[in-house]
Amino acid sequence: MRVLRNSSSAPCSSLRAGGVVPLLYLPQTMEECVQILQRHPSIPVLGRGSNTVLSARNPVPALLVASQLDHISISDETLVAKTGTMLARLATLAVRQGYGGFAPLAGIPGTIGGALVMNAGCYGVHISDRLLWVEIWRDGEIVCLQRHQMEFGYRCSSFDPAREVILRAAFDISLRVDESQQLRQCLERKKASQPTSLPSLGSVFRNPSASVSSWQLLEKCELKGMRLGSMQISEKHANFIVNLERGSAWPDDYVVLARMAANRVYQRTGILLEPEFRYLSKEGYFYGKEIL
Ligand SMILES: Cc1cc2nc3c(=O)[nH]c(=O)nc-3n(C[C@H](O)[C@H](O)[C@H](O)COP(=O)(O)OP(=O)(O)OC[C@H]3O[C@@H](n4cnc5c(N)ncnc54)[C@H](O)[C@@H]3O)c2cc1C
Repeated sequence: MRVLRNSSSAPCSSLRAGGVVPLLYLPQTMEECVQILQRHPSIPVLGRGSNTVLSARNPVPALLVASQLDHISISDETLVAKTGTMLARLATLAVRQGYGGFAPLAGIPGTIGGALVMNAGCYGVHISDRLLWVEIWRDGEIVCLQRHQMEFGYRCSSFDPAREVILRAAFDISLRVDESQQLRQCLERKKASQPTSLPSLGSVFRNPSASVSSWQLLEKCELKGMRLGSMQISEKHANFIVNLERGSAWPDDYVVLARMAANRVYQRTGILLEPEFRYLSKEGYFYGKEIL
């Protein structure tokens, strides 16, 4: 089992900023993962950390990073992926095999586990759309949840990462469509509109409604380019905060900058933006409005 002691958590987040974590577990197999969960029942779990700020001010005492639990198997009309499998790998494999309903997920830099918690989606397609069942670790045992036992909404789900750890998920691959062109278009569209070459956590805020986008409000409030430490509201896409200095960055500045931006939008428009990212510190997980 790979265990790192007193190491930086910065490589565990796509923001490339973090604190010092006394114990960092990187299980290579599901058996190792279960052993860690038995020993540390409330250990925080991450996938690729592409939606999570890891506090340096108040770092967690231990962290389990599940990104090495990466495996896909296919039988009949079902695709089963382990929690650490990247969405990009799942989506490109699905497109290559002609399974429909996955192509737009290829541009999301997260894992199956993180994507299910967030109900990640892109251009109208969500990870939950073709979901059949999910195997989780809860209260010391492995439980299999059928689709009707889970709830999904706009960038949210009924999973509680503080007490449920996603181990595997199964998807329906009975839809046969050639989505290779859609895959290419989705990736090109993302590259053209988002600052994909700089560390970030994707969209900072959820869109307040179907007709009002956060990036439009942030742009209207002249927030593009606003900087705090090494964090900056992207010049390319106002709903991204990018890390300009990588290794030396202070992750908690991301949260403060998001709060400053949300305050200005509220003062000028009366709309309260809600964070899409999550914040993980010694005190636990923080989501949505409780971060601000
Ligand atoms: C450049 C960029 C573009 C992005 N584009 C999109 C997009 O188009 N659409 C979109 O929806 N998102 C997007 N995101 C955000 C992010 O990639 C997604 O939310 C992704 O699904 C998060 O996956 P992750 O594995 O990185 O999750 P993490 O950040 O590691 O975790 C997210 C949450 O899930 C929990 N978690 C992770 N793994 C498990 C597990 N196995 N069991 C239980 N809980 C777990 C964590 O504790 C945390 O609360 C983007 C991010 C970036 C950096």
